[in-house]
Amino acid sequence: MARCRKCRQKKADVFIPHHRLPLCKEHFLEWFEEYLARTIKKFKMFSPEARILVAISGGKDSLVLWKALDNLGYHTEGLFVDLGIEDFSLISRRVAENFAEEIKRPLHVVSIKKESGLTIPDLKSRTKKYCSLCGSIKRYFFNRFARQNNFDVLVTGHNLDDEASSLLSNTINWQLKYLARKYPVLPEGNGFVRKAKPLCRFTAFEIKEYARLQKIEYLTERCPLSPEATRLVYAELMDELEEKMPGTKIRFYMDYLRKVYPIFNRQVEDFLDRPLTQCETCGEPAVSSPCFVCKLKAEAKG
Ligand code: SF4
Ligand code: ZN
Ligand code: ZN
Repeated sequence: MARCRKCRQKKADVFIPHHRLPLCKEHFLEWFEEYLARTIKKFKMFSPEARILVAISGGKDSLVLWKALDNLGYHTEGLFVDLGIEDFSLISRRVAENFAEEIKRPLHVVSIKKESGLTIPDLKSRTKKYCSLCGSIKRYFFNRFARQNNFDVLVTGHNLDDEASSLLSNTINWQLKYLARKYPVLPEGNGFVRKAKPLCRFTAFEIKEYARLQKIEYLTERCPLSPEATRLVYAELMDELEEKMPGTKIRFYMDYLRKVYPIFNRQVEDFLDRPLTQCETCGEPAVSSPCFVCKLKAEAKG
């Protein structure tokens, strides 16, 4: 491999295709954290003093995000939502706890079994849409925990591959309500805490390389309930485009944010199915009251 572009002395450990950048270990880690700091600043995600809650799954993205934010000196705490998916949840939780211990930051755990009386496997036997329900449940508990504990912002590990493939899917299916809210930072309001995706300009490859060089042990198992999602088709399509034309993902995503998002977002209210209300039982924002989590709780009881 070529020499590092920065020091021009050491052999490069990583080659970043879309930046055409060969870097040694030290300079790759430095580049990664500087680029993260620039992304946070560019999108005005949060201030250096903010109390940040990191949504932790145990996978590479959330752990890399936590590590890099911690290295940059941000005040972070983690939250793991235990979905009750047997061994998978147990292993993910252990990985997350070990990591928190290693970086000496607090990790909070919310168990959906304790909170609602149900687990995701219970839901799987009731509905085919258990994955989208699982996503909504995670968002509900992350938001509630962040608000109740006065965090300034909730950050998630979505990366460029996630953002570009979901943008492609939302565009092909003209899902305007998602397109109108597809931005790396969403302000606080209507019961929602501020949310940000600081890894939105990093590819899965760069994140894996950061994890490898920092020796981060992350979860590699896939959720056993994961269906053959159509989402993967869009991800594969984007990968194919990227391989043939390096830089396609970042161009597609950043051009969307610059040129298209402002047009959609001006009319965001027009695209929402129904205006939001507040759940009378738990106080969380909801499309109707009681919210879906309170309904699940009532079902589990009765
Ligand atoms: Fe939840 Fe597993 Fe589906 Fe992911 S794959 S949304 S963790 S049930
Ligand atoms: Zn170097
Ligand atoms: Zn509720």
